[in-house]
Amino acid sequence: MSYGEDMDRDLNPEIFAELKGDVRELFPALKDVRFTHEWGGPVSVPLDMAPAIGYAGDKNVVYSLGAVGHGVSMTHLNGRTVADLILERKTDLTDVFFVNRRMIPWPPEPMRYLAGKAILGYMHWEDRQYDAQKGGA
Ligand SMILES: Cc1cc2nc3c(=O)[nH]c(=O)nc-3n(C[C@H](O)[C@H](O)[C@H](O)COP(=O)(O)OP(=O)(O)OC[C@H]3O[C@@H](n4cnc5c(N)ncnc54)[C@H](O)[C@@H]3O)c2cc1C
Repeated sequence: MSYGEDMDRDLNPEIFAELKGDVRELFPALKDVRFTHEWGGPVSVPLDMAPAIGYAGDKNVVYSLGAVGHGVSMTHLNGRTVADLILERKTDLTDVFFVNRRMIPWPPEPMRYLAGKAILGYMHWEDRQYDAQKGGA
C-alpha cells in the first residue's frame, strides 16, 4: 500500500522476506529450499473489491479492471467480455452486474491511504482470527 501515485514499489525486501517466511511456515518441508526469483507489482483494487468492465465515455474505449490479484484466469473471461462490448453484442458475458456498473471512487489522499490501510488492517485481523481458530500463530 503506497501513498500517492508511487507505483514503482514492485521490489520490497521486507515483504519478500515475510512471504518466504509464510511459505516455510505453511510448507515446513520447504524450509531449506532456496528462493531463486522474486517479483512484485501493483494489483487493481476497487473500493468495493469487485471487478468492473465497461465503456469509458463513448463506445470506442472499453476498460477492464479490478481483478484484485486474482486475474490470471478471470482476465480470459474479461477479454471475451471486452470483445463483446467492442462489437456491441448483448451476451451472457455482458449481462453481468459488473459490466458498465457505477464505481465508488477511491477518495483523494490522504483519505485513500487511510482507507487502504484500514482494509489491509481488517484483512490481517481476519488472518489472525483464522490462525487462532486453527491453533496457529
Ligand atoms: C506480484 C503479483 C502476483 C500475482 N499473483 C496472482 C495469482 O497468483 N493468481 C492470479 O489469478 N492473479 C495474480 N495476480 C494478478 C494478475 O496478474 C492480474 O489480475 C492480471 O494480470 C490482470 O490482467 P489485466 O489484463 O487486467 O492487466 P495486466 O496483466 O496488467 O495487462 C495490462 C497490459 O497492458 C500493458 N499496457 C499498460 N499500459 C499500456 C499502454 N499505454 N499501451 C500499451 N500497453 C499498455 C501492460 O504492459 C500489460 O501487459 C498477481 C499480480 C501481481 C502483481
